[in-house]
Amino acid sequence: MKTWKKRTKAVHAGIRRSQYNEVSEAIYLTQGFVYDTAEDAEARFIQSGDDEFIYARYGNPTIAMFEDRMAAMEGAEDGFATASGMAAVSGALTSMLRAGDHVVSARALFGSCLYILDEVLTRFGVEVTFVDGTDLAAWEAAIRPDTKAVFFESVSNPTLEVIDIAAVSKLAHAVGAVVILDNVFATPVFSDAIVQGADVVVYSATKHIDGQGRALGGIILGTKEFIRGTVEPYMKHTGGSMSPFTAWMMLKGLETIELRVRAQAETAGLIAAALAADGDLAQVIYPGLDAHPQNALTKAQMGAGGTVLSIDAGSQAAAFKLLNALDIFTISNNLGDAKSIATHPATTTHQRLSEETRASLGITPGLVRLSVGLEDPDDLLADLRAAIAGL
Ligand SMILES: *Cc1c(COP(=O)(O)O)cnc(C)c1O
Repeated sequence: MKTWKKRTKAVHAGIRRSQYNEVSEAIYLTQGFVYDTAEDAEARFIQSGDDEFIYARYGNPTIAMFEDRMAAMEGAEDGFATASGMAAVSGALTSMLRAGDHVVSARALFGSCLYILDEVLTRFGVEVTFVDGTDLAAWEAAIRPDTKAVFFESVSNPTLEVIDIAAVSKLAHAVGAVVILDNVFATPVFSDAIVQGADVVVYSATKHIDGQGRALGGIILGTKEFIRGTVEPYMKHTGGSMSPFTAWMMLKGLETIELRVRAQAETAGLIAAALAADGDLAQVIYPGLDAHPQNALTKAQMGAGGTVLSIDAGSQAAAFKLLNALDIFTISNNLGDAKSIATHPATTTHQRLSEETRASLGITPGLVRLSVGLEDPDDLLADLRAAIAGL
């Protein structure tokens, strides 16, 4: 399996067949497991093997298949599946940090990630320094000899800044800090983050991994020591685990993720190029466009621009008019879905932030985030052009 390409791993890695040799992954809807004898129970609590389970809060065959498949795809030693992307982000950070620790984080973050770093960790005595993630000098200045972890989104939500994983990892590793990466926008398909230097990679499986808007989920990927020694004890006792049914849905999502995400990214690239050439919008932001400030880094780091672009309609009124005129794009706040979705970050996902913070992050009143789905590219472009023409 080690020599398989990612696309093959996405279909086959981690499979565990029961005595019936089923083709499709079985759903083990059980929270507990029976021991033949009291001695067996005692032995399993002392040391359980790879294929032995105790309680679904920290192990179940269907969940283990999902964890193993994701670890194989990402090139990580192990993984721990979580109830949501936020359970993964908060679990990765809180499991390893204690009062007095120092963390450096990129400032441009998904609203809930910012809440964890800015409000939760600081409440428990962790010191957090925020930097402009694209500015390597800022990372270098902020990382201290006692820095325990750095955190960033490899592609920021919704302004699509791309952060240099290798360069930031090098700075972090020089002081022994752990690199924790929220890799949602890169997707497992375009990620090579562990090779590039990340120690811990976190996904919201709600996005491209499910990809069909059905369930919340997440995963923390890293070394066996970090996942089983640091993350598992914390998650096991705090309870943010994935359900077996969700793990099964995510396994089914992974089977098609390569085809979906590559098609979505190709369409996103076509739409971004066409809208930029039309010249009717204040801004078209897409990491795959030559004009994007980190386009060269994007190509080297991900090999593609991803499935999301952002456009600026000029004002909130224009953005609302555009959103309300869209026919195929639905107004919602998920992303990575088969259905194309349009979001107005300033009044929804990033509403909680002050106007100054939003301005400093580039979340303008006219900004609209477009998650490109699996519909026909011509239909999507026509939908957008008609809405833009009405402005
Ligand atoms: C959606 C998202 C999350 C949170 O994931 P949930 O599954 O909704 O909890 C975290 N980080 C990023 C970048 C996201 O887009």
